[in-house]
Amino acid sequence: MNDKITRVTQVIFITAAAALGSSVSLGWAQTANQPPADHPEVTVHGHKFTPRSILARNMGTPEDQTAQFPPHKIIGNLYYVGTRTLSSFLIVTSQGNILINSTYERNVQTIEKSVEQLGFKFSDIKILLGTHAHSDHQEGDALIKQLTGAQTMAMAEDVPALRAITPGGTEHPIDKTLHDGETVTLGGTTLTAHLTPGHTRGCTTWTMQAREGDRNYNVLIGCSLRPPATLTPEVVAEFNHSFPLVRSLACDVPLGDHTAQYNLEEKYAKLREGARNPFIDPDGCTYEVDIEEAMFRALLDEQQKAVGH
Ligand SMILES: [Zn+2]
Repeated sequence: MNDKITRVTQVIFITAAAALGSSVSLGWAQTANQPPADHPEVTVHGHKFTPRSILARNMGTPEDQTAQFPPHKIIGNLYYVGTRTLSSFLIVTSQGNILINSTYERNVQTIEKSVEQLGFKFSDIKILLGTHAHSDHQEGDALIKQLTGAQTMAMAEDVPALRAITPGGTEHPIDKTLHDGETVTLGGTTLTAHLTPGHTRGCTTWTMQAREGDRNYNVLIGCSLRPPATLTPEVVAEFNHSFPLVRSLACDVPLGDHTAQYNLEEKYAKLREGARNPFIDPDGCTYEVDIEEAMFRALLDEQQKAVGH
């Protein structure tokens, strides 16, 4: 992008932010006190979504964010140990276990309980990873490290935002910095970290293979692709990179850092019926990216129209 276009785009962004007024919240942070706008509305796969409804779907009620979801095996050596709306995944290996997403610090005890209920030891968590630097996914990192001694690893681009998550004044632990495409291996399981920025600078989509029956399945643990209220030129560029990248990743088992992103409740009900593994859902692999990309395009359109383009 040349300088002139950059300047013009910045002017559009600033003017759009001013035009949209109080409904706009600048920056990346979760808008905890201020719900996002109830427009634009997009229809994807027969369901209507607005920025407000997507956030509500992701977070649920305060009780949903903290109540234990029944811990269960997803596929192979991969298990669910999170709450009703905030995902936490456990990967069990012969050399110890990997946890992805500590969620809120107040959920750590619940995660511990879920790990133990599945018959595993919480203290066997050797590596702690995350999807992105927001409190609802990684606030509990310091406490989990304190309790288990796990090594914490984070995508370089998310490090500044993670450093700012300091519950009770505790420093955020980052033992190793990762870069796009880097792998994390423990006990024969390899996870690949894909940089899929937009929602945060270092938003990380994790892929791994899991074995069930006589074949391997590609597991995709998605990072949130929910666009912020205001799309800066940098954020637009990041999403334009991330949407096609996520679509290109091999996927049989789509998962996400919020359970609604992969319809956990519906799939868990099927799991209990004892049908074939409902988490093997290649058709569902683009479900979340379809919703978020449609919303991103609609927001961009709205933002540009607000300044008469
Ligand atoms: Zn987030």
